[in-house]
Amino acid sequence: MHRFKITELGENVFWLRETERDHLVRVLRLAPGDDIIGFDNTGAEYYATIIKIEDKSVTCRILEESHPEVEAETNVYLIAGLSKGEKMEWVIQKGTELGMSGLIPLRAKRSVMQLEGRKAIERAERWQKIAGEAAKQSHRVQEPQVFAVSDWAEVQRALPQETQWLIPYEEEKTRRMRTVLASLDSSLPIALIIGPEGGFDYSEISWAQEHLGAKSVSLGSRILRAETAAIAALTITLAYYGD
Ligand code: SAM
Repeated sequence: MHRFKITELGENVFWLRETERDHLVRVLRLAPGDDIIGFDNTGAEYYATIIKIEDKSVTCRILEESHPEVEAETNVYLIAGLSKGEKMEWVIQKGTELGMSGLIPLRAKRSVMQLEGRKAIERAERWQKIAGEAAKQSHRVQEPQVFAVSDWAEVQRALPQETQWLIPYEEEKTRRMRTVLASLDSSLPIALIIGPEGGFDYSEISWAQEHLGAKSVSLGSRILRAETAAIAALTITLAYYGD
């Protein structure tokens, strides 16, 4: 059954507009009488029938509401040092499938790609779309939020104060990530901070330790590419706190 992000929810009815409407009409060529599933990013899912297709909207009658348990119990965020375009896209897509709650693109000292102004806004919008598509594909009912491209201080302000911060760092030789995970509180958000292709400058590690209370952790004895490290860290964390 095809899934759509609801634009507006009413009583026993919802509407799809813009890209969702166009996808339903032009790509999937669905028609009145066809059944679909709508979700509105609040955790609910609606089984519905298309009743009207107009130029700018599709109207659907809700037949059944459900609350599938597909979202992770603990909110796990990824803070990803800006890496080249396609790598960020890959991480956003896979991270969404795995169940991350959101991603903050971080302007790290060694980020090769630097995004500013209008370009940064457009890129974040594109990444949000990728998260939306991946959320649909993986049958999630809440699309992860892709935050604005941020510097360190903005990252700190973006997440709740009680967030538990971990910073995978290849020079950390003793503290293994899985051991640290066991000591976290599953009722509080977890944020994983991954460096860009060039890794973190040590001053960034110490800033995160001092200002965020971040714990540096090891993902093992081998050096992983930035995008591999992001997905490995998310997988380990969500294997612990994801169900
Ligand atoms: N130069 C490679 C690349 O092109 O992607 C490797 C970059 S690695 C230094 C990037 C980030 O991955 C690091 O900042 C760190 O967050 C994480 N990372 C990679 N291997 C790791 C390990 N064994 N333990 C902890 N973190 C690791």
